[in-house]
Amino acid sequence: MFESDGSRFAELPAQDANNGENRGEKKPPIAILGAGLMGRMLAISLMDDYQVFLFDKDSKEGQQSAAYLAAAMLAPLAESADCSKEIMQLGEMALELWPAFLKKVDTPVFFQQKGSLIVAFEQDKSDLNQFKSRLKGRDYKRLSDSEMEALEPGLNQYFKSALYLPNEGQLDNRQLLNSMATTLNDSDVFWFDSTAVESTASGFQVKGQPLEIFLNAGVNDTFDWILDCRGLGSQTDAILSEAVCDAASDIASRTSKLRGVRGEVARIRAPDVHLTRPVRLMHPRYPIYIAPKGDGLFVVGATQIESEDSRNPTVRSTLELLSACFSVHSGFAEAEILSIESGLRPAYLDNKPKIIVKDKLISVNGLFRHGYLLAPVMLQQCLNIVKGNISDISITQIMPNLVENLSAKPRR
Ligand SMILES: Cc1cc2nc3c(=O)[nH]c(=O)nc-3n(C[C@H](O)[C@H](O)[C@H](O)COP(=O)(O)OP(=O)(O)OC[C@H]3O[C@@H](n4cnc5c(N)ncnc54)[C@H](O)[C@@H]3O)c2cc1C
Repeated sequence: MFESDGSRFAELPAQDANNGENRGEKKPPIAILGAGLMGRMLAISLMDDYQVFLFDKDSKEGQQSAAYLAAAMLAPLAESADCSKEIMQLGEMALELWPAFLKKVDTPVFFQQKGSLIVAFEQDKSDLNQFKSRLKGRDYKRLSDSEMEALEPGLNQYFKSALYLPNEGQLDNRQLLNSMATTLNDSDVFWFDSTAVESTASGFQVKGQPLEIFLNAGVNDTFDWILDCRGLGSQTDAILSEAVCDAASDIASRTSKLRGVRGEVARIRAPDVHLTRPVRLMHPRYPIYIAPKGDGLFVVGATQIESEDSRNPTVRSTLELLSACFSVHSGFAEAEILSIESGLRPAYLDNKPKIIVKDKLISVNGLFRHGYLLAPVMLQQCLNIVKGNISDISITQIMPNLVENLSAKPRR
């Protein structure tokens, strides 16, 4: 019995009884810590074969997650100007996987792959050229004045040239989070919201009780796998120290290097602005994109500041975001500001994602500013590990260090 929150735990057998009838065989239990982007995607992908126990310190809206704040640009080529080629290649692979994942959720999610435009004012043309020279792929086209107007007639006429990246995509992250929540609520997944899981030297715990107590079974029962998807929540992770992991200091040193990278995003309702695809403005002070999410909603972001400052958005960032909007399309002048929010992206020192495996613990983290871009590939690789499908090497061929398996490492 889970004493510190008996009411929550009391729900378990009832739910089990409702669904157990149709399922027949008991499914092996799996715990997912964190119901942000990765946690929800994993829960949906595993729920048919496993009895999923999903834990999050937040409510089901997920407002504390980086996933909630993000602009959800799926822009492998544009991002390649400032990230490694392997992230670009994984992002290209992931873009193809998104539509299949979106079919698994109960309600429609805005997803678009109409490319994106990169624009600059005449005086900032050198920024555009420099950006182009940093791209690690060739799938782009320089547009003339008239081509640009044909593609996005609503753009400010002062833009004289642009780059068109035809394969880039985007989705509506909040629709996706909601849709995943609906799907999970309609399933037999046990979702413990407002339930923080902390790591201690003796294992993962909820309010001082071992996680396994949620299994409501024999004392020796354990989860088949524990998937740690707590993003920045695992920054000060003690579980990856001694008792649970023999190679503790290896993992602990990595996770202690997990850091937050601040970002600010504006959400704006602008029915008079007609843009059909994301526009990235090259600017010496604020390289910012404006992403139309349908129904007159625009997401403008994001600042990237090397700081774990978690205060509300600053005046400077707000001015930059809104100035960028107005300079791209004057119709933003009368737009309604729905929100301007700030948050932290979970990132390792090299800004690359990592899946760390130690025995039955899988930690997925460090998705930085590429969580949505890479999520289907990260998901695929986690499923490969859980299901023992080692023959799928397409992902590791691109990024050999994506998975670190510490299980085989000798004891210290
Ligand atoms: C401003 C901004 C803009 C972004 N824009 C983009 C973009 O355009 N494209 C893109 O690809 N990516 C973007 N990202 C990045 C993307 O949002 C992240 O990479 C992604 O959300 C990381 O997913 P995650 O599941 O690892 O972490 P999260 O989504 O942060 O989820 C972690 C979850 O763990 C929970 N948690 C934390 N601690 C605990 C605990 N102790 N116990 C239980 N639960 C816990 C949290 O409540 C949260 O729900 C952006 C991020 C930010 C901040």
